[in-house]
Formats: sequence, structure tokens, C-alpha cells
Amino acid sequence: MTETLTLESVKEHIRNVPDFPIPGIQFKDITTVLQKPELFSFVADTIAEHYQHKGITKVVCIESRGFILGGAVAHKLGAGFVPIRKPGKLPAETYAKDYQLEYGTDSIEIHKDAITSSDRILLHDDLLATGGTANAAIDLLKVFNPVAIYPCFFIELGFLNGRKYLGNYEVTSLIHF
Ligand code: AMP
Repeated sequence: MTETLTLESVKEHIRNVPDFPIPGIQFKDITTVLQKPELFSFVADTIAEHYQHKGITKVVCIESRGFILGGAVAHKLGAGFVPIRKPGKLPAETYAKDYQLEYGTDSIEIHKDAITSSDRILLHDDLLATGGTANAAIDLLKVFNPVAIYPCFFIELGFLNGRKYLGNYEVTSLIHF
């Protein structure tokens, strides 16, 4: 790849899939970015650099697409990785929260021993749409009373205004549609 890497050039590699998984949804497919080594590294590096002075101790990632970049970012920051998963997937004791999705309803869980009150958390998902998922994840994290929570998304669908559900948190998104 010879092009200069910018977030604008990364944006051109996100594949839009109309009517997936149901009619009316314009699905933003990030696999076309992740499959290119230069783009995968550039996006993970960009996120990690943004948070490198925040003292992040845990990167909390939302199943399942959030795990991919979130894992790379946790490694780069020298932070721990904590999964938030769909019901019944985590093996030990969990806290759970129901939430609304852009296309349906769901529930998420986190292990009760995953976070402490001294953690500084980077909360990552691949995409912010209506904000229901991230809002539920923040509710789960607030149970632990951590020092800080920084919500961070690869993509934000700004027209859905999901940010308004994320309160006064410092929200960062790399790519905006
Ligand atoms: P929301 O709770 O509405 O903010 O939805 C965010 C979650 O749903 C993220 O985990 C995304 O992976 C997924 N999602 C919602 N809408 C889309 C979309 N248009 N394209 C890709 N993923 C989406």
C-alpha cells in the first residue's frame, strides 16, 4: 500500500453493506479495514496514542467486534483486557444489563471481579449507533466506581445521536458518518 495513511483514507476502506442484518440498516463492515495490516496497525496505534497519557489500566471491550481493535489497543497501552459479553458466555459470576440495539434488544454481562475502583477504563466498541449498547456498558462499569471511564469508538454514526446517552464522558470516535 503506497497511499499516505490518514483516517480519511481508512474511512474509504470501510465497506457499507445495505440491508444487513435486516432491511433498512446500512451495516458498516470493518473487516475490509482489519484485513489490511497497515490499516489495522494504523487504527490501533491511533487509538492507543490518543490514550497513552491517561493512565489506562483496563481496556473494556464489547462483544464481539469490539474485541478486535480493543485487544490490540490493550496490548499497546500495557493495559488489561476485559470482555463485556452476551448472556451466558462468561463462566464466572457476572453483573448484567438489558439494552436497546439499533436493530433489536439484547443484554450484556461483565465478570464481577473484572474491575476495581482504582481502574482507569478505556471502554471500546467498533461502532456507536443509537448509544444503547455503550450506555448499558457504562451502567455496568459504574457499579465498580472506577477512577475514570473513557468511551472510544472506531466509527460513530452521528445522525443517530448516540452520544447524548453517554452523559458527560469524554467520547472519542475516529471515523464519523
Ligand atoms: P447501538 O447500541 O445502537 O449504539 O449499537 C452499537 C452496536 O451495534 C455495536 O456493537 C455495533 O457493532 C452494532 N451496530 C449497530 N449499528 C451498526 C451498523 N450500522 N453497522 C455495524 N454495526 C452496527
